Amino acid sequence: MDNLLLEKATIKELSKKLSSKEISSVELTEAYISRIKELNEKLNCFITVTEDKALVAAKAADKRIKDGSDITPLTGIPISLKDIFTTKGVRTTCASKMLGNFIPPYDSTVTLKLKEAGAVILGKLNMDEFAMGSSTENSAFGVTKNPWDTLRVPGGSSGGSAVAVAASLSTASLGTDTGGSIRQPASLCGVVGLKPTYGRVSRFGMIAFASSLDQAGPFTKTVEDAALMLNAIAGHDAQDSTSINEPPPDFTEKLENGVKGLRIGVPKEYFIEGLNKEVEDSVRAAIAILEKQGAEVVEVSLPHTEYAVSVYYLIATAEASSNLARFDGIRYGLRVDNGEGLFELYKNSRDAGFGAEVKRRIMLGTYSLSSGYYDAYYKKASEVRTLIKRDFEEAFKKCDVIATPTSPSTAFKIGEKASDPLTMYLSDIFTISTNLGGNPGISIPCKISNDGLPIGLQLIGKSMDETTLLQAANAYEKHSGVGIITPKL
Ligand code: GLN
Repeated sequence: MDNLLLEKATIKELSKKLSSKEISSVELTEAYISRIKELNEKLNCFITVTEDKALVAAKAADKRIKDGSDITPLTGIPISLKDIFTTKGVRTTCASKMLGNFIPPYDSTVTLKLKEAGAVILGKLNMDEFAMGSSTENSAFGVTKNPWDTLRVPGGSSGGSAVAVAASLSTASLGTDTGGSIRQPASLCGVVGLKPTYGRVSRFGMIAFASSLDQAGPFTKTVEDAALMLNAIAGHDAQDSTSINEPPPDFTEKLENGVKGLRIGVPKEYFIEGLNKEVEDSVRAAIAILEKQGAEVVEVSLPHTEYAVSVYYLIATAEASSNLARFDGIRYGLRVDNGEGLFELYKNSRDAGFGAEVKRRIMLGTYSLSSGYYDAYYKKASEVRTLIKRDFEEAFKKCDVIATPTSPSTAFKIGEKASDPLTMYLSDIFTISTNLGGNPGISIPCKISNDGLPIGLQLIGKSMDETTLLQAANAYEKHSGVGIITPKL
């Protein structure tokens, strides 16, 4: 199978080819596996490749297709998962030494749903340790490289998931987004990345970073594929009490409805100093395309945007410090038992198991929750979070979808921000508010910069209205002329 086919391959098209028996899932899976073998050394996006299991699943999918029963758009399609989703019998590391040998006895709900749909899982993808980061440099398994320029980061924390799709090592993948970790790497790698509404997708079996913000979502080459993936993973789950108890719609239903009559809000707080000029120009040009297609562009205001990064880094670290307390060498995780007594076992295990950024976050979070500081930090941050959520509710009285840049710049160089956590934190400035508000957001490629790097347009939707969000995103994709962009490798 030639590489060109994989580079342009979408779920939609491959599914047609599989149904008409033009190709088999085994052939397709073998083609991806051989491409992974060829390119993973260079890109380091897979932590674990599950070749044997994938071929077994591909055979089963081919049989399902031959029998003509129970076929879904994902049957036989090779995908891969961020290494944060538990996979029964397959190592799940969260890119941490702490879980370097963890083989879960169960599947996360999304893993199970994808398996049931007949998708073929090729392996587990690199990420920032415990999803903390914006560059995939914080992985215990080495940095993932951006396929557009391997001296640059792919973004993060779902860097491996973005690269697997951008470099055509999977038709689609799954990542998680707590403060931008799907949308920002999608933007930096030139693919589509969708963060659904908080609670739309079950978090069961997804290793927790900040439970009130975490949400799973797909990376794909097209908006339509993102809708197909969301169809497969969305829905209430009794095992996750925060998953929304409402049957999800068919997210492909209104894809072709266009933007005529839709109001696109442009928040002035997102076009600020520090935003790269070329990124700004491309996003404004993208908005003009939507306007030309009949959308009405309105200015909106999200006045508390300037507090979002601070609020996020108080809430996310507080939740992380609590979630990560279980990794103590006794209940979970790496055990280093070379000291004296229980306390030293905890201390030595956590010291050896966690990387620098994870430790920094645990300390920040523990501090902001500690007595005497709780009111000043965590509680205050929670109050401001409510104001940010209200900003969106107010803005969405005036518009149906909000358009902004996804990231203030294109992919930065490996090492460029690694020693300065604050600069790194600022790279999520446009994505974080969406998580604080719970709203869905998507990043779509909108241009290749003059120095050959992808730029992303972010669209943000009303809570629970992925349908309109995808409709607007699809209209943009169809009329932008950008198409599927692929790096030369
Ligand atoms: N970059 C942000 C952080 O480091 C967001 C991470 C994420 O969404 N998982 O917290």
